[in-house]
Order: sequence, then C-alpha cells, then structure tokens
Amino acid sequence: MALQDIQTFFSGNPLDRADQLRKLDETMNDMMHQSDARIMVLVGGQILSDPVGAIKWLTQRQCAFLPLDTTIFLGLEDGEPRYAASLNGEEADFDGLFPDAKFRDARALAMKIGSAHPELGIVAQAKSMLSWHETHKFCAKCGAESNLSKAGYERACPNCGASHFPRTDPVVIMLATHGDKALVGRGPQLPPGFYSALAGFMEPGETIEEAVARELMEEAGISVSNVRIIANQPWPWPSSLMIGCTAEAENMELTLDETEIDDARWVTREEIQAAMRGETPDFFVPPPLAIAHDLLRHWLQDT
Ligand SMILES: [Zn+2]
Repeated sequence: MALQDIQTFFSGNPLDRADQLRKLDETMNDMMHQSDARIMVLVGGQILSDPVGAIKWLTQRQCAFLPLDTTIFLGLEDGEPRYAASLNGEEADFDGLFPDAKFRDARALAMKIGSAHPELGIVAQAKSMLSWHETHKFCAKCGAESNLSKAGYERACPNCGASHFPRTDPVVIMLATHGDKALVGRGPQLPPGFYSALAGFMEPGETIEEAVARELMEEAGISVSNVRIIANQPWPWPSSLMIGCTAEAENMELTLDETEIDDARWVTREEIQAAMRGETPDFFVPPPLAIAHDLLRHWLQDT
C-alpha cells in the first residue's frame, strides 16, 4: 500500500537509508570499496544522467581519478551501497568523459523521465544533501571549519564540539477555494500568463494550518478555515519540503501584496481543465512536476 494518496515528483525514494550504519566508520569505509558500490555524481547541482534521464551510476573505478569534493552515503538498494558525490569544477571540465551521459538539472531530468519516478527521490536526497555541505562548511557556533561526519548526515566541529545537521525548509503551498472557484496567483518571477497556487515559507513557532492562513491573508487578503493537508513533496532547491494544502475561503475580495504577487484571480474548474489541455494561450498552470499541479487535479476531482 502506498504511503500517500498522491505520488508527487521527487517522492518515493526507494533506498533503505540504513541510518544505523552511518556511525560505523569502519563498515562505511569497507562498503565504499565493495564491487557493488555505485556513485552518482553532481556538478554545480546538476546530475550525471543517461540518455533516458535515469541516474548514471558509476563504479569506484570510474570515480578513481575524478576530482571528488564531498561524498555522502545515500543508502542501500537491494543491499548494495549507493553514494552521491559532488565534483570540483564545472560541467565543461568533464566534456567527453562520459560519452553516453550528460549533466542535467533535476527539473530537466524530471521532465525527461516524465512521471513521478522513484529515482527522482534519490535525486532530491543527493542534491539537497550535497548543497547543504557546500553551504555549511563552517561551524555556525564558533566559525571553525567543520568536518563531514556520520557518512554525511552530520558536520562536526573539531574546535568547539558542536554538531550540525542537514536542514529541510518547510514551505506551505495552498489552494484556497470558495464555492466552485479556486484562487491562483502569480509572482513576478513567473513567465507571463503563468498562474499557480500561492506559497510561502513556514515561520518558526507556527503550525502548517497557521502558516497557510497567514500567507493567504498576507498575500491576498483572504481569511480561511478548514485547512487540509493534501500532499507533500521534497523540492531540492535547495532543500524544501512543499506541503500542499487546501483551505476554504471566507471572503472573495482580494487585497494583493504587490511586492510578492503580480496578480491573483478566482478560476473555475473549466478554466483549469482548459489550461491543462493547452487550450488557453494566455493562461498557463504548473506542469505535473509541481505539487501545485497535484493540488489543482485534486480539486478538479473533488466535485
Ligand atoms: Zn565550532
């Protein structure tokens, strides 16, 4: 039985993360040299992938002369160890080195695979973890350079002894509904005509439901009740968890925060269906890759 009703892109990571092994330095070292160990490599957050968009797993031997920066343990796949490593340098430095493979952005890779494939969960794990190491090399408490520990799931400070752990940033993304209409909006960063569900980072000390209510009030002047969590999605830019919700609006009059929102509007199911079919030249909605798409689909079915 599936863990969740809606299988979002970047969910469904099939690996056994084998947390219990991470602290066993000797075991981890031995596993790294097993003949069935495989490594995925990333440059600047781009993932080496094969022609169909699947992860290009390399052997230890293939990695022996690569300029590895950080290597982390991902987990076990049918008992075989899997790792992710970031390479020093730029994509162009590796031109021609992997003739049947290419570095791709995680979004491009997801579009190429074209469905919520479990391998994208591995991509999200690897990309977020390596990005965290990249930006957290120094101790937040004393400023000394910290060391990778627990196979990559901790950074330990040799100076003050502090431990630092990978972060996940929760974001609420929500579809407010009123009768047979739903609220979509667009931020200034979106292409012309592109509308999505409203979203915002959660703040410390609030619940998911409170964050949904606050964001809808701040961005659109809408009061809501009956917030429901519908689906959630790892979103590795760099390490968010998108929490997709619906909420019932108590008013329809919009007061937009124009620093965050260019426009927002109430739409019908028919308008969303037409946009999903590509029939509306001036109105676009997010593709299946995004949890906003799942929220819209969920609403279309909720009649
Ligand atoms: Zn320190």
